Amino acid sequence: MTNIQVGAMASANNALINLSMELTNLDMDLTVLANAKAKGQALFATKFIKKGEPVMFLDPPVMMAIDSESLHRTCYSCLVTKSGMGRCGQCKMAYFCDKSCRNQAWKNYHKYECPILRDFKEVLTGSSIKDPPRNFRAVLRLILLHKAGKVSTSALQEVADLWHRANGRTDEHDNMLAQVIKGATETDASQSCILSLLRVMESNCYNIGTFSGDLIGAEVYLKISRANHSCAPNATFSHWGLVMWDRQSKYLTLFDKQMPAAMIVARQDIAKEEEITLAYVDIELELEARKHRLRYVYGFDCACPRCEKEEALCREKEQKLQKIASRT
Ligand SMILES: [Zn+2]
Ligand SMILES: [Zn+2]
Ligand SMILES: [Zn+2]
Repeated sequence: MTNIQVGAMASANNALINLSMELTNLDMDLTVLANAKAKGQALFATKFIKKGEPVMFLDPPVMMAIDSESLHRTCYSCLVTKSGMGRCGQCKMAYFCDKSCRNQAWKNYHKYECPILRDFKEVLTGSSIKDPPRNFRAVLRLILLHKAGKVSTSALQEVADLWHRANGRTDEHDNMLAQVIKGATETDASQSCILSLLRVMESNCYNIGTFSGDLIGAEVYLKISRANHSCAPNATFSHWGLVMWDRQSKYLTLFDKQMPAAMIVARQDIAKEEEITLAYVDIELELEARKHRLRYVYGFDCACPRCEKEEALCREKEQKLQKIASRT
């Protein structure tokens, strides 16, 4: 990202937005959610999609938070990055570019989270960590919006269910954060639901990048999170693993239907009814590195055709080596 000129990114952005506006009027429903054999839910193409064509646009994020190190220079509401913004006088953590952003954020979500963030920040005084962690803030907001009746219990469960790996690791730190959220919000959501949400924020999130190449936060999308992984995926983000935000248009308001920010495009021709797959990890990684990351972060052993093929090649090599070794 760092090598890309700002001007080039700005025009790429315009092209993206023009394209998305054009396509909004067309048949957008190129994918459908269905149950796949042995895989649970999966996304399938409803018609032939040519290489390079959009497969889907992003739905509004269900969870998002700004990275701790970017808080001081990113508007909490519209994600504009600049210096000299006004800080929330209560939590002393959220920064806003102007009054209207502050008012909008306050009305929609910040009034619920601000007192808890303030208390958390006070506890952190004197420690090396300055602000409540990103994933904690993302989950806290969702839980509070659920408590306020702005997110239904079924919608909350749908997000939590994205974490369905039975062999997911347990993490003491996350357990503690889940306990804090449960206690501070007095939510009726279970602690295991909160723990799942923390896991989802960790494993299903995409980085938010500005058009000048800075990474400023992360967010989770419900629909694309249902696409299964492949190490040789047939679809990809228009920017790999990155959601680009247009600084000019203020379209980030959680849970509001607004213009899509980025899209998934076909890496190759996709046949009608073919499953849509995305890579959860960098596909440039070697077999062992990919498998390790998928197991550690996502809790599953990849058995995609590429992994199977590469594993077979490895076994063949080993057998040949063993033959050589047995001759000596
Ligand atoms: Zn703003
Ligand atoms: Zn505040
Ligand atoms: Zn694989």
